[in-house]
Amino acid sequence: MLYIDPEECIDCDACEVERPVDAIFYEEDVPEAWKEFVLLNREMAATCPPIFDWKEPFARRDANS
Ligand code: SF4
Repeated sequence: MLYIDPEECIDCDACEVERPVDAIFYEEDVPEAWKEFVLLNREMAATCPPIFDWKEPFARRDANS
């Protein structure tokens, strides 16, 4: 699981266009059904170590699988 630190995010939009699925939204655009995850993301981002090194991306799942 990856969390985005809302205090560090500069809303550059780079991750939103690269997302493999609809997993990242601007906070104001989060669908109503997923709004509870906004607070969870904030809480978990504060407890997880930041990633500073480039990593191989996970393989993308087939949209039909
Ligand atoms: S890439 Fe995504 S998480 Fe990182 S600063 Fe830009 S919008 Fe925020």
